[in-house]
Amino acid sequence: VLTLCLILAGCAAPSHEPRNISLLKDEIRAYVADGRYERDIAVVATRADAWLVQRAARRGDGERLAVVLDLDETLLSNWPFIAAEDIGGSDAAWDAWLGKGEAPAIEPVRAVYRTARRLGIDVLFITSRGESLRAATEKNLRAIGCGGFAVLAMKPAVSKETAAAFKAGVRRRLSAEGRAIVANIGDQDSDLAGGFAERTFKLPDPFYFTP
Ligand SMILES: [Mg+2]
Repeated sequence: VLTLCLILAGCAAPSHEPRNISLLKDEIRAYVADGRYERDIAVVATRADAWLVQRAARRGDGERLAVVLDLDETLLSNWPFIAAEDIGGSDAAWDAWLGKGEAPAIEPVRAVYRTARRLGIDVLFITSRGESLRAATEKNLRAIGCGGFAVLAMKPAVSKETAAAFKAGVRRRLSAEGRAIVANIGDQDSDLAGGFAERTFKLPDPFYFTP
C-alpha cells in the first residue's frame, strides 16, 4: 500500500511546505473582487434575517428580544484598509484606520440591522475594539445609518481576556438583564463561542483570525 501511495504521489516524499503566501493573497483579493465574498455573506445574512422575522412573530408577552452583532468584518468592512496594507497592517496602522471612522457598511448585514429595528428587536454591538475608539466607532455607525443601537460594548483598555471570553461575558450580562438574545452574528468563531444566543451565524473572513 505504501508503495502504491508513493507511486500515485509521483514518488515525492510528503511535503510540509505551507501554502505560498503571495498566491494566497491573490486568492483572497480575487474572492473579494469577483463578488464571492459578498455573496457568501449574503447567504448567511439572509438566513439570519429570516430567523429574526420568524422569531419576532412568536415573541412572548413583554419579551425583550435582542440581536448581537460584531462590528469589524460583520457590519463594518475594513477591506479598503486591508487591501491597501497588502492584507497585513501593524496594530498602529489598524488603530489609525479605525480612528477615522470611515469603514463602509457590509450591505447584507446592514439589512439585518434594519430588519431588527423594524421588528423592535434591540441591537447590541459587541466588539473587540478598545474603549479609546468609542467616539470614532459611534461616528462610523451613525454615518452608515446604524446609530440606533441599544448597546455598544467595547473591550476595556486593561483587559487581557480573549475576544471569546470577553464577548461571552458581555452576552451573559446582557442576558441577565432580561434580554432574549435571539441571534449572534460574527465573522470569527470567537464572536460566537460560549453560548448566550439562541442561534449563531458565522460570516466568512479570510483576512485575519481573532482567538
Ligand atoms: Mg469581526
